[in-house]
Amino acid sequence: MSKKKIYWVFGIAFSAILVIALSASLAFISISGRAIDSPEVQGNSQNQYSIPSVSEARAQLVANQKKAWDHMPISYSINREACGGYESRQIERAFNEISSVTNGVVSFVEVEIDADISLDCSFVENCYSLSVDINGNSATRTESICGYERGKATVSSSGNVINSAKIELYGLAGFAETDGKGMSGFAVGRCGWPQTEVHEILHAFGYRHNDNPNSIMYHKAENVGYSINKLGACSNSIRSIDEYIIEDLIVTYG
Ligand SMILES: [Zn+2]
Repeated sequence: MSKKKIYWVFGIAFSAILVIALSASLAFISISGRAIDSPEVQGNSQNQYSIPSVSEARAQLVANQKKAWDHMPISYSINREACGGYESRQIERAFNEISSVTNGVVSFVEVEIDADISLDCSFVENCYSLSVDINGNSATRTESICGYERGKATVSSSGNVINSAKIELYGLAGFAETDGKGMSGFAVGRCGWPQTEVHEILHAFGYRHNDNPNSIMYHKAENVGYSINKLGACSNSIRSIDEYIIEDLIVTYG
């Protein structure tokens, strides 16, 4: 995250910036395999929210005068040198997922320059640490990660028409990226599903956060996961694209 600048274009850029309210989160694993997780993980409540119907949610989008692109397909470019092989593939998976759930109504084409959506990657330094405490016959492995945001979308528009979007994705420095050996810094806490990528691309289509913990647009969806080693940690990580978003995409671009 050395030199990044946010350009606010025309003063009406819509920016989806998540303020990280996480303190450093820790995951502990003993070599016996018994996992002890931070209280935040166990206290992860998901049952307080009542999901609005598809029509209610879409009506809200219309009431909020959601912005949209004025053409299809949408072009994109990936800074593959910065993103590396793993993350570049995750980005492609995210585009494919959005195209797939809309039955191809929303489609994408990769270009070298002047893309509608340009994607770049950078790395968070000094965030991951591993220590091993040996105490008599037992050893405790402690991995820790700091709280950080995994992505950010900056969208510029004129009136209700989206003109361009820039997406920045953040990985953890110190992991393998391009050589294929070891885990990618982008894979930490993500469980393989390109959740952050889909989330940021949907921001680039004008969709905002919601309060549904199971939604791809949940406001915490671009935070790093609390745990990096917990068994079953992926169960809360895979959020599907909301029906109201799929319906809105098909109606808007069909
Ligand atoms: Zn977001």
